[in-house]
Amino acid sequence: MVYENRLLILIISRLQRIYRLYMSKFNIARGIGVFLCFTIILTALAFQFQKEKPVPELSISSENMVEISEDLDLDSYGFNRFNVEVNEGKVRRNESLYLILRDLDVSPQKIYQINQASKGVFQSNRLKPGQKYLTYTGEEGTERLILHTNALDYIVFDWKDDIAIITGKKEVTTKRAETAGVITSSLYETLMDNEVSTLLGLRMSEIFAWQIDFFRLYPGDNFKVIYEERYVDGEFLGIGDIIAAEFTVKDQTYDAFYFENETTAGFYDSQGNGVQKALLKAPFKFSQRISSSFNRNRFHPILKRRIPHQGVDYAAPIGTPVLSVGDGQVTEAQYRGANGNIVKIEHNGTYTTAYLHLNGFAKGIKAGTRVRQGEVIGYVGKTGRVTGVHLHYMIYKNGQPVNPLTIDLPPSKALQGDDLQRFKGKVQRLEKELSDISMEGEETVASLLSID
Ligand SMILES: [Zn+2]
Repeated sequence: MVYENRLLILIISRLQRIYRLYMSKFNIARGIGVFLCFTIILTALAFQFQKEKPVPELSISSENMVEISEDLDLDSYGFNRFNVEVNEGKVRRNESLYLILRDLDVSPQKIYQINQASKGVFQSNRLKPGQKYLTYTGEEGTERLILHTNALDYIVFDWKDDIAIITGKKEVTTKRAETAGVITSSLYETLMDNEVSTLLGLRMSEIFAWQIDFFRLYPGDNFKVIYEERYVDGEFLGIGDIIAAEFTVKDQTYDAFYFENETTAGFYDSQGNGVQKALLKAPFKFSQRISSSFNRNRFHPILKRRIPHQGVDYAAPIGTPVLSVGDGQVTEAQYRGANGNIVKIEHNGTYTTAYLHLNGFAKGIKAGTRVRQGEVIGYVGKTGRVTGVHLHYMIYKNGQPVNPLTIDLPPSKALQGDDLQRFKGKVQRLEKELSDISMEGEETVASLLSID
């Protein structure tokens, strides 16, 4: 709809321009005639674009319609390509907007005006190598440049008459896709050949992180997945939402279905129970070696007395990203004596977690920051009173340290009432769809990570 309205606005402005031109060249009476003619055509076009009602019977000759459609060849940005040459280019290293425009024979004065008009919308020194741009060249030279700041967002620089700089966004279309795979080997590298399956694998490992140890997959383990692919102008942009997935490990099958309403969004099993827990099992994307467990009676070898070890030590390499194990609010992010750089996160009234000896904090992490589950909050280091690089990780339940490795983590909420009814209807269809995905002939894929 938005796109269609934009087309309409564009057509109106074009017609107004032509009308003004006619008015200046012919007498007023003829001008009015031409204007009326355009108004009728415009009305017809409007109806066509709205697609709500059939084109009503208007006293309009079919020849006029044909003429207009021949002059109109709108591209995906809503601009007419009729009698216009459009070229595509990529920003080169150290290339500025000034250089690009100069090469298009735009006068220095126009370039200056474009630069002035761009203020607040675009900083001309912010061009990055590789950015895509399109140029529109008409009979009087190049009149427009569209610069893509990424695959979706773009800026239109228009200088044919008045200078106009507007921003726009390409429409993303999604397509439903499905795939299946069987684990045949354990090499992560084999997956690297196929970008899509690598991304899908990672996404599934996030969904099933609480049930499946993705470091311990075996040949024969398999999965099926229904997901969305995102496209812009028919070009593959990436993987969108995962709609449903099934993962079988050692003959046990886990399933997950995406569901969202006004307040929640997430993955649920076929019974409507949250698949993801309120807290992650560990504050890392990939599992790390535990060098010291939770122990209330640990005898300290140097201090020669019993000092409880109220957390888990992970011997992760320096700089390894540390993730928040749950949604929450940072209550502390600072250097604090023997703890070194510490981040403390309050997840709810019951659970708080702490991450000690960090090398540094992730950007924006400070007291008061809200974080999401899985967000990077800092990096493994050896600050404070430590003998080597490690992360000391703690969970407090109602203010008391508890063992992160044995605690029964709370599940995310199960669906209830109307939501559950709606969900079950959806699951029925998706389960059928999943079972229809054939394992035969599907490409086999390797385990995400090597088994050592
Ligand atoms: Zn420790």
